[in-house]
Amino acid sequence: MAEPMPIAIRGLVKHDEMLSRHTSWRVGGPADRYFEPADREDLLAFVEQLPSEEPVLWLGLGSNLLVRDGGFRGTVISLHGALDELRLDAEDGSRIHAEAGVHCARLAKFAGRASRAGLGFRAGIPGTVGGALAMNAGAWGGETWGAVESVEALFRDGRVEWLTSSAFGIAYRTVSTPPDFLGFLAARFAVTADADGGYAQATRESLAKRKATQPVGKPSAGSTFRNPPGDFAARLIEACGLKGHRIGGALVSQQHANFILTEDGACAADVETLIHHIVHVVKAQTGIELHPEVKVVGEPAHA
Ligand SMILES: Cc1cc2nc3c(=O)[nH]c(=O)nc-3n(C[C@H](O)[C@H](O)[C@H](O)COP(=O)(O)OP(=O)(O)OC[C@H]3O[C@@H](n4cnc5c(N)ncnc54)[C@H](O)[C@@H]3O)c2cc1C
Repeated sequence: MAEPMPIAIRGLVKHDEMLSRHTSWRVGGPADRYFEPADREDLLAFVEQLPSEEPVLWLGLGSNLLVRDGGFRGTVISLHGALDELRLDAEDGSRIHAEAGVHCARLAKFAGRASRAGLGFRAGIPGTVGGALAMNAGAWGGETWGAVESVEALFRDGRVEWLTSSAFGIAYRTVSTPPDFLGFLAARFAVTADADGGYAQATRESLAKRKATQPVGKPSAGSTFRNPPGDFAARLIEACGLKGHRIGGALVSQQHANFILTEDGACAADVETLIHHIVHVVKAQTGIELHPEVKVVGEPAHA
C-alpha cells in the first residue's frame, strides 16, 4: 500500500536558515529546518508530520536567546507573524485571549485601549506571548504567570489541552513543563477594569523609566543574568568593574551592567565567553554565582 500523502504545508519552510536573522543579539548559526506556520491549523499539521525524536526549538522574537555559531540541529518553529489572534474573551471583559505569536507590547496596548488593567508591565518586553510564558517574563514586580488563567498547550503527540498554572512549575524567570509538552499556542489572561486610567498612566511611566535606564534600541537580550536573592546582577557586575568590558564584538553596557550588547561582526562565542567571564569574576570577587536568564542553545562552531 502506498504511503499516505503528507498533508500540504502552507507556511514558510527553509533549510539552513541563519538564526542571526531572528535573534535580538543578531548572532547565531543556521537551523537545519526553519518553519513559520501560515496559521494554527498549518502548525498542527506540520507538528503531526514531525518525526517523534526531532529536536524542536520554538522561536518568538528571539529576544532572550543565544544561539551558538554552529546553529541548531533540528527544527525551529517561529511564531513571528503567526498565531496572532487577540480578543476580549469574556462578556464582562474579565479575560483576554492571546495567541502565542502576539507581541507583548500589542497585548499591553490592547488591554489599555479596552480599559483593562493587569498586563501593563508587558509593554516594554520585546517578546511574544509564547516567549513570555516560557520565560515567565516580568518587570517592576509583575510576572507573566501572575495573570494567567489558563494556557493552551501542544503536546508531542499532537494533543492540544487548556491547562492551568498547576500543570507547570512556575518560578522567577523559569518555567518547567509537563512530560511530552511541545509548546504554547495561546493564553487566557485575567484582567480587571482600569476605570480611572491609573494603570495606563503607570504603564507609560514604566516605559519612560525603561528608556532612561536601559540601552533600548541596541542589540541585546535584555537582562543577561537572573537577579540573585536579595541583590541585583547589574549592581554586582558594576561593582566588579565590568561595565564596558569587551570580548570581541560583545560588551557590557555602560548604561545597564546586566545588558550585554553586540556590535557588527560579533559572534555568539563572543557573547558566551563574556557571560562565562562575568560569572567567573563576580564569583571570585563576591562569592555570588550568577545564573544566566537567557537561553543558550545550539552547537558551537566547528574549529
Ligand atoms: C531590550 C530588552 C528588554 C527586555 N526586558 C525584559 C524584561 O523587562 N523582563 C523580562 O522578563 N524579559 C525581558 N527581556 C527578555 C525577553 O524579551 C523576554 O524573555 C521575552 O519573554 C522573550 O520572548 P520571545 O518571544 O522573544 O522569546 P524567544 O527569545 O524567542 O524565546 C525564549 C524562550 O522561550 C521559548 N519559546 C518561545 N516561544 C515559545 C512557545 N510558543 N512555546 C514554548 N516555548 C517558547 C524559546 O524556545 C526559548 O527557550 C528583554 C529583552 C530585550 C532585548
